[in-house]
Amino acid sequence: MSSSATLKSLREEVCWANKMLPKAGLVTMHSGNVSGFDPVSGRVVIKPSGMDYELITPENLVEVDLESGEVMAHQLKPSVDLSHHLFLYRHDSSLSSVVHTHSNYATAFAAVHRSIPCALTAISDEFGGEIPCTPYIDNEGDHIGEGILKYRGRGPAILLGNHGVFTWGNSVAGALKAAVMVEDVAKTMYLAFQLGAPVPIAQQEVEKWWDRYHQRYGQ
Ligand SMILES: [Zn+2]
Repeated sequence: MSSSATLKSLREEVCWANKMLPKAGLVTMHSGNVSGFDPVSGRVVIKPSGMDYELITPENLVEVDLESGEVMAHQLKPSVDLSHHLFLYRHDSSLSSVVHTHSNYATAFAAVHRSIPCALTAISDEFGGEIPCTPYIDNEGDHIGEGILKYRGRGPAILLGNHGVFTWGNSVAGALKAAVMVEDVAKTMYLAFQLGAPVPIAQQEVEKWWDRYHQRYGQ
């Protein structure tokens, strides 16, 4: 595909994923954003700042040059979280999409600086171990991006202490799925903590679930 064709389809996917955030119950008002990276053109597209999700269209997503960080001409203002998204794409070339939310159950774990233990087979499948939580990180410069890289585990999600969730993937759908899954397992683990101490799955068993899911699951 030409770079304009890949950018056009990326805009459609990123628009869809942003609109899915409120539908999946992951955001209130404007508190989340999805971006995508097109390696052909070197451009990132991201949600405009403070825009209602129902008003987002493929055309009004903000286009940014990854290398220079410059917003292309005639664009709206990008999400205030743009710099964290850019940092992640610049430092991990495997990433095609990044999602940020303050989804309630996952962010509750972040509020108490508690990683989500790997006590569910669904966590083994999707995240390959516990979902880590960073300490508090301020919003200056590249601190959030650096903290995500420093504290991330094997899976495509991290809790930011006192803040929320970042997920990522090698596709827009994959990064969105991780955001949905982290909230779903956080809810189950929250309930589990009400009953008692969750029982972590043995590491060798975690490996088996992870391998099966990543090598054999699906059509
Ligand atoms: Zn945030």
